[in-house]
Amino acid sequence: MWYLRSCGRFCPRRARFLSRLSSLMQVFRQTLNPTTGRAEWTAMDEDYDYNQEVARSSYTDMLHDEERNKKYKAGLELAIGRVRGRGQRVHVLDIGTGSGLLSMLAVQAGADRVTACECFKPMAGAAQKIVKTNSFSDKITVIPKRSTDLTAGPGGDMEERANILVAELLDTELIGEGCLYTYQHALKHLVTPDCIFVPHAATVYAQVVESDFMWNWHRLRDLPITGCEKALVPSSDMEACMGAAAVHDIQLSQVKQEQFKPLTEPIKVFRFEFDKKMESLERRTELSVMVTATGQAQVVLMWWDIEMDPDSSVLLSVAPSWAHPTPDNMQWRDHWMQAVYFNHQSIPVEKGQQVALHGRHDEYSLWFQVQKQGSTTSAGSEFSLERPVCRCGGHMVWSRPRLGMLNDRSRWGTYAAALKQVLAPGQTCVSVSDASWVPLMAARLGAQEVGLLYSSGGKNDKKCLHQHIYRLIEANNLQGKVHIVQGSEEQLEAALEDRKVGMVIAEPYYSSSLLPWHSLYFWYVCTRLRHKLQGGATVLPARAELVAVAMEFEDLWRLRAPVGTVEGFDISVMDQMVKDHSNQTDERVEPHPLWEYPGVGVSNPVTLMNFDLTQSVPTENLVATGEIPFTCSGSCNAVALWMNYDLLGDGRHTVSTGPRAPYTSGRPQWDPHIRQGVYFMDKPVQVSADFRLVYRVTFSPKDGRMDFQFDIENSQGKNL
Ligand code: SAH
Ligand code: ZN
Repeated sequence: MWYLRSCGRFCPRRARFLSRLSSLMQVFRQTLNPTTGRAEWTAMDEDYDYNQEVARSSYTDMLHDEERNKKYKAGLELAIGRVRGRGQRVHVLDIGTGSGLLSMLAVQAGADRVTACECFKPMAGAAQKIVKTNSFSDKITVIPKRSTDLTAGPGGDMEERANILVAELLDTELIGEGCLYTYQHALKHLVTPDCIFVPHAATVYAQVVESDFMWNWHRLRDLPITGCEKALVPSSDMEACMGAAAVHDIQLSQVKQEQFKPLTEPIKVFRFEFDKKMESLERRTELSVMVTATGQAQVVLMWWDIEMDPDSSVLLSVAPSWAHPTPDNMQWRDHWMQAVYFNHQSIPVEKGQQVALHGRHDEYSLWFQVQKQGSTTSAGSEFSLERPVCRCGGHMVWSRPRLGMLNDRSRWGTYAAALKQVLAPGQTCVSVSDASWVPLMAARLGAQEVGLLYSSGGKNDKKCLHQHIYRLIEANNLQGKVHIVQGSEEQLEAALEDRKVGMVIAEPYYSSSLLPWHSLYFWYVCTRLRHKLQGGATVLPARAELVAVAMEFEDLWRLRAPVGTVEGFDISVMDQMVKDHSNQTDERVEPHPLWEYPGVGVSNPVTLMNFDLTQSVPTENLVATGEIPFTCSGSCNAVALWMNYDLLGDGRHTVSTGPRAPYTSGRPQWDPHIRQGVYFMDKPVQVSADFRLVYRVTFSPKDGRMDFQFDIENSQGKNL
């Protein structure tokens, strides 16, 4: 059921999406299998799907976030102390109770009564069970409703208004889960005028930086090709485009120091006091800020902190390491990261200068722009900070990491070198790709005609994809040489008429691919096109291999570690939901951008399976079994998986979707533009060099599925 996951990144805080789903009883949807490219009907019934959603969501990561839990507890204790000090009985409203944790903390801290609501029905059910298991049912009432559907007053969901409101409705962008409206509604309808909010307030910070590394996620650059006079260029409308609207969240502390240069100090841009009435859920501000280093203002980094109590004595910050109040004692978490915003243009700024930092937010998002002070007003036009929208199409065709990949010159150098070796004059070439440099490069390097069949499994809107690629072809003067074929292989066949194809090429990269081997889609298309190929036709890449390395991740494994007890409460009901899910399906592998998650290899990288792309997809299952020796002592908690493509089949032009450089041991330098596959072990296992990882991999050609089984054996051959 990976095909549902169309979000660019793997489900951080998907609560809003889930709540919409939960109202549907049973849904059938037609989805495209990302590997075979064929349509499939998928049933989403309640038991199956929601357990998976819970299993793969951020709920357990939140529960593992000890700093968060402890600070909510401290905030609740302070609030309850205050209300008691006023001589009042304590009635807590917990909005979005999830597992029920905050409600139980409130009772433990002395609340007389807690009303908990939760709009995601399967979670509300879990909360009820957890509250019962921990014997809190007499004090906590769980209502399976959205807070905005609750009523307070005689005969309502709550007999009277609450005098403490606790909620954890914050995401990486702070307000992305809609907390502003939820709080405003609660102020008006659900709580008393003197109600204490936990947390009480939040501050949004921004820091302007120069960073080629990040700017490459925003703008497509020229691509010089060795031996060609003319570089490949982006379409010019991309230069003026504001870019994509969606927030870009990353583990900012993993960006290396040499990959960015701060141009200002961190700046407080917005403060939200959750217990105050807001005139409007939209605000904008302009701050004059001092530039602390000369450079190009390209990117605005964002993070926030929250004050758990009205005296601001308990503070929780999600700042990156260099701006964190306690850099040596930082909680790892994945449910809150930091966000990156892109300036419309790269602006040169000088140390000592003042620049204008514009910030704006609406109900759900934030955005920023840096400007030279007075620069636009002097030109006569008022600077308007509009929400970014992509008008060029390019930012819709390409995700941000994909743009980074298209700007990765060393990657494209490998393709150019391989193409040069095999392109013969007069050849008709078919490129099976999403919007890629490959077909343009082939045309520039001399292919007579290139038919570009783009992935029919692509998630992008076909029309915008088509138009932007067309402009890209025009910008490079390759009209007449590169033809776009929209749709399926059948359409391609029709377009080819009676021409025979001398070469089929691909990166292969498809935006519909979530796991590394989904790009074997290329193999399926080649197989279906076989009868159109000339004798001796080139297939590039010629070979693929699936590679694995046993890993000791510092933190990533926590995402899937059982919760057990949290702050003394038994939350194992959640673990059971996750386990039920794992028993139902073999889908153990998740995509993660591993450059954001530190870890070391505890084995050498090993090829699990080879694919000869010059041959047809086999009809029988491919099965590979074997052992991977561990190379050092450590805690093995996962196996990282990726694909390597050998473009010509001679081992001399290899492109990897795993480590950037051939990797032997230690910390892999993961390619930052693509996600790798991660198989999480049931539990971390302490291994040493005489242990081994026993594997069995099955590739089923019928549906393109890859199933994995990994077991750890000690030196006596005992399964651990
Ligand atoms: N309070 C839990 C879970 C936090 S996740 C904890 O701290 O561990 C946020 C939860 O709030 C999600 O389960 C989401 O479904 C729910 N939610 C978000 N907005 C809501 C609203 N307005 N009313 C009820 N539930 C809401
Ligand atoms: Zn655009």
